[in-house]
Amino acid sequence: MQGLTVLGATGSIGQSTLDVVRRHPDRYRVVALTAHRQVERLVADCLEFKPLLAVVGDESTAAEVRQRLQAVGSAVEVLWGEAALVSAATLPEADMVMAAIVGAAGLAPTLAAAQVGKRILLANKEVLVMAGELFMQAVQQSGAPLLPVDSEHNAIFQALPEDFSRGLRACGVEKILLTASGGPFRETPLDGLRHVTPEQACAHPNWVMGRKISVDSATMMNKGLEVIEARWLFDAAPEMIQVVVHPQSVIHSAVQYVDGSVIAQLGNPDMRTPIAYAMAWPERIAAGVGPLDLFKVGRLDFFAPDFERFRCLRLAYDVLRTGATAPAILNAANEVAVAAFLDGELPFLGIAELNETVLGRLPARHEGSLGDVLAADGEARSLARQLIQEREFA
Ligand code: NAD
Ligand code: MG
Repeated sequence: MQGLTVLGATGSIGQSTLDVVRRHPDRYRVVALTAHRQVERLVADCLEFKPLLAVVGDESTAAEVRQRLQAVGSAVEVLWGEAALVSAATLPEADMVMAAIVGAAGLAPTLAAAQVGKRILLANKEVLVMAGELFMQAVQQSGAPLLPVDSEHNAIFQALPEDFSRGLRACGVEKILLTASGGPFRETPLDGLRHVTPEQACAHPNWVMGRKISVDSATMMNKGLEVIEARWLFDAAPEMIQVVVHPQSVIHSAVQYVDGSVIAQLGNPDMRTPIAYAMAWPERIAAGVGPLDLFKVGRLDFFAPDFERFRCLRLAYDVLRTGATAPAILNAANEVAVAAFLDGELPFLGIAELNETVLGRLPARHEGSLGDVLAADGEARSLARQLIQEREFA
């Protein structure tokens, strides 16, 4: 029986994780659930999975959840705030931690889980984008098993030899082929992108996801964040990571070897596959995902990415080259930009523009500690908010 903490339990990845747990009550026991403000969902999940601890974002939400649970005789402890998230991530009863909070808010608890050697199921890619070096050091020092949940990185992990940590070149790897659907606007003329609404941006052709990552997919910032994620997870030089636009999202990514072989992982676009893989590795368990019907798929298409149209993708390669806190600055600017776009305060094309402006104005500094990363994150957020208020992008 494995104890599992789900950070971001009420989100898209969190709910898919609980669906996999539901299918394997003999293997997994939920020990902690966290959410930001979704009371209904969290209370229902607490009643079903009976964790020891539930964590929410603020005091009044905690009071509400506590009251609702006590009313039906539930003994779940309810806490709130960042320190409580860290407690959930480092609970002695937790063998593994699903990191499925969206954005920078997931960094501290996920890093804490890595420091104490929990098995990390990593969906929250922003952790590696912000603090890749620090996080990978923590993983190496504690020996925490790190399993990628992001479908592309999970596919790459499956296509690599088990001892890839001795070096990709040493294993005969030539390239990582990181596939991208291209999002809902792959073929929209640039001019047509001016008046894109949040609803259009969130309507992904293949995947149902949270709103932030959906917008990131539409700008291809998501693929950029994933290039940075791959750089750290697999210790891959940026030039070894090739983005391949593949609109069907059937090949989840591939690895190209020196002997001419390309090993890919295929499947229906359903996050329960990589989640179940990460949970059960090195075994395999049923995920509730139907078999891939290649006859129905029929054809697989591939295109080179358009770096002019998708400026955010280019920015990601730029910050990898700059290094230091540049990726954290880009991530923070992008989180502010996406939130502003979703709130109707920034046009769609303003996202890339804002990201680029913030990057241009703030110097990248050495990321020696979590404090350095958080300082860069804070500085980039304030500048981004200031620029939006000044309506430089409206
Ligand atoms: P989501 O918006 O559906 O869920 C986010 C979760 O985080 C919710 O439980 C929410 O309550 C919690 N949360 C939000 N803000 C918080 C804060 N400030 N403090 C604490 N908790 C907070 O997002 P999602 O689509 O499930 O994505 C989660 C992560 O997984 C993201 O980093 C995303 O990039 C990554 N990911 C998602 C998918 C997908 O298919 N959804 C695929 C690959 C990777
Ligand atoms: Mg992905």
